[in-house]
Amino acid sequence: MRAAVLYAFNEPFKVEKVELQEPRQGEVMVKLAASGVCHSDLSIQRGILPMAPPIIIGHEGAGVIEAVGPGVTSVKKGDHVVLTWLYSCGLCRDCARGKPHLCDTAAQAVMMGGMYDGTTRFKVGGNDMRHWVGSFAEYTVLPEQAVVSIRKDVPLESACLVGCGVLTGAGAALNTAKVEPGDHVAIFGCGGVGLNVIQAAALAGAEKIIAVDLVDRKLEMAKAFGATHVVNSKQGDPADQIRGLTGGKGVDYAFEVIGNTNVIQQAFQAVRRGGKLVIVGVPPMGADVSFPAVEFPLEEKGILGSYYGSPRFRYDIPRLLDLYMAKKFKLDELVSRKLPLDKIQTAMELMEQGEVARSVVVY
Ligand code: ZN
Repeated sequence: MRAAVLYAFNEPFKVEKVELQEPRQGEVMVKLAASGVCHSDLSIQRGILPMAPPIIIGHEGAGVIEAVGPGVTSVKKGDHVVLTWLYSCGLCRDCARGKPHLCDTAAQAVMMGGMYDGTTRFKVGGNDMRHWVGSFAEYTVLPEQAVVSIRKDVPLESACLVGCGVLTGAGAALNTAKVEPGDHVAIFGCGGVGLNVIQAAALAGAEKIIAVDLVDRKLEMAKAFGATHVVNSKQGDPADQIRGLTGGKGVDYAFEVIGNTNVIQQAFQAVRRGGKLVIVGVPPMGADVSFPAVEFPLEEKGILGSYYGSPRFRYDIPRLLDLYMAKKFKLDELVSRKLPLDKIQTAMELMEQGEVARSVVVY
């Protein structure tokens, strides 16, 4: 079987033959059907995220269970699954309180690039090859905890997106902020994640949904996903423009979905009294940002961090797919191109050139 291997930072992926061992106790083998190509994959290739090659990556996958190891109970051969990129243990304090994305066991396994004990199931040329999920491979082996069983009538090429970008965006609105009917929200950054904040805010009944970006093409897309107003930051301070659209008040929630410290500050200035800034975009490591401290107590403004959409994987992934099947949630419109694994590098380059929507690798 074949996989795209990343051997060094800033080098192209090499699609080649690799070996994969059978799943062990509590593990499953997944035959990949599709994998979204996410901006985090590009960040790893560029050395921006702390995950070192050589490694097999790709983390927005969906497929079919090919085999299960001893003791696996949540899925069986033939089940359709979406992969999660955190293999939350389900047993620790954070998992128990409904915050599986904060599970330390999961974070450790991902950082080690392997299973819970740090071992890997991939080999290349007889040597162990680390992996993070590994959806840029025809098959992968993961802990049972990393797969969520889904209904079989959802096309896997659409379902895969829910494993990362869609959940990150929709979860920020539904889980982190808990947007309510009538809320006013602003979304800074209308890429793949931002569009999902927008459509989830619309689903939650937000009244004003103000999309902010520098690129008109992205703002057009934002309207198609439910934005009621658009603001191009090239035409003046976006916080001023947002106050102008909200009777001088600002919004209940401002989502920053870029990871730019200047934009984070702008977004905070667009928040009304009692409102919250929600930081979804990942700023560079070590970056600092400052805020007028008096606005916390006297205006009761606040800041929320949102990681992976504060998900409950086994609840959120099936419910988003149910909404998709009920035609209340868009997935296919997020995809600009489907391509084979051999073209993975092309997908990376298109993303680097700032293409709006996603490429999906189809097996
Ligand atoms: Zn991702």
